[in-house]
Amino acid sequence: MQPFPVPPDEIPVGGDWQRGAGPTSACVDPADGEVIATVHAADPAQVDAAARAGAGAAVDPAWRDLLPHQRAHMLDRVADAIEHHAEQLALLQTRNTGKTLGETRALVASAAGTFRYYSAALETLEGELPPSRGAHLTMSVHEPIGVVGAITPWNSPIASDAQKIAPALAAGNAVLLKPAEATPLVSLALARLAHDAGVPPALLSVLPGPGAVVGDAIARHPLVGKLAFTGGTTTGRVLGRIAAERIIPVTMELGGKSPTIVCEDADVDEAVAGILYGIFSSTGQSCVAGSRIFLPRKRYEELAQRLVAGATALRVGPGTDPATRIGPLATFAHRDKVAAMVDRAREEGARIRCGGTIPDEARLARGAFYPPTLLDGLAPDAKTCQEEIFGPVGVLLPYDDEDDLVTQANATVYGLACGIWTADYRRALRLARRIEAGTVWINTYKQFSISTPFSGVKDSGLGADKGRAAIRGYQRQKSLYLNLATEPIAWAGA
Ligand code: ADP
Repeated sequence: MQPFPVPPDEIPVGGDWQRGAGPTSACVDPADGEVIATVHAADPAQVDAAARAGAGAAVDPAWRDLLPHQRAHMLDRVADAIEHHAEQLALLQTRNTGKTLGETRALVASAAGTFRYYSAALETLEGELPPSRGAHLTMSVHEPIGVVGAITPWNSPIASDAQKIAPALAAGNAVLLKPAEATPLVSLALARLAHDAGVPPALLSVLPGPGAVVGDAIARHPLVGKLAFTGGTTTGRVLGRIAAERIIPVTMELGGKSPTIVCEDADVDEAVAGILYGIFSSTGQSCVAGSRIFLPRKRYEELAQRLVAGATALRVGPGTDPATRIGPLATFAHRDKVAAMVDRAREEGARIRCGGTIPDEARLARGAFYPPTLLDGLAPDAKTCQEEIFGPVGVLLPYDDEDDLVTQANATVYGLACGIWTADYRRALRLARRIEAGTVWINTYKQFSISTPFSGVKDSGLGADKGRAAIRGYQRQKSLYLNLATEPIAWAGA
């Protein structure tokens, strides 16, 4: 089977597939360094054209007047199309991001499930009739914002795109999607499928290109009424400032340095399997990666050795090989950044328990590979323990008791996720409430449901993706007062 075909010299701009007028950028398969496509970026004039066409399409009666079940049907057809092309889409994403086929298949299934979920949610959302304090009927209604700017990162494109596009369309908007520079292919494929499935083409533009040019033009465009962003905290702050200037809402799903905690009474097999999955799946390129691994001091060495043995056994290789657990990093530049961060950890005094160097095996020589790496011996405030690495690197940290654990676990600017491994449900719930995080997993890790809101606290984000309420996040609330009194307002004396 071939990957989903995407003509790289065409991007969808306001309903028209045309050549991007910005610079070209190469999409490289990080498993072997091969250039798989050269995509033409959009330029700011195309952002403007897409925004104008999107704003027009959003108020076109052919879209605006669709009843919820009709719009829901359209989302269902997008889900059908994704499922129909699932294997091709997974292959395309594996080639463009390096993720294993097992992972990209799951992401494609998740994208289809997201469209189905918002289809169902749209049909069942209800308005409100707040109690009235006068002779009028009050209604609270929700209306589309118009044009939404969605900016997504390179780690899980089709799933993160769907989590923004599906609720935004369900809410009645047009979307300008800016995928990450290195990984636009599956986003372009998604637009092609959505248009073929009947989504009015001007409602979904995909505008690849550099964030500081194309993303910036989207964020500042006067017709863009909401920003939905997933990416790094530094970019989140930039976009937050623009949103503040423009007084438009923004949701941000940002970075993390999530603690995963083993309690003394944990089932060790379960904890080790879950921790390895939590930090090393997707080669650690996951905002929720459990990258700070807290072990009770009394059982520290025993648990550390189990984790090291498990990490060392994970097979590194291309994402297309079913035996691979650790695919390449998404780009060579990112692999080098991860390697540099491990070198800095060494300078900080870290002990490398496993991994820690670019593999020298001939079969891995052409790809952006880095092995699963565990470190320890660092103080909790070392840069390595505080900064997001976004690669297959976990740091082991001992703790003495529950208070010490909570203090250490919360001593970070981030607050995205947490894992707790214990047989004691009271302790699990107690800890879950004390840890500052948007999501806490108890005796599991990195499990998701589209129906469950996903958010970060502190520098990890603002607002939530997923869940029924996400549709409301792409709408404006309006209050309607319908007079029921039979007499005029007794004020002017007329
Ligand atoms: P990561 O560190 O995960 O690459 P980034 O925040 O750099 O995260 O990128 C996430 C998305 O934000 C990408 O699509 C990127 O092009 C975009 N982006 C980066 N800088 C800006 C910016 N100044 N304005 C708008 N979008 C940006």
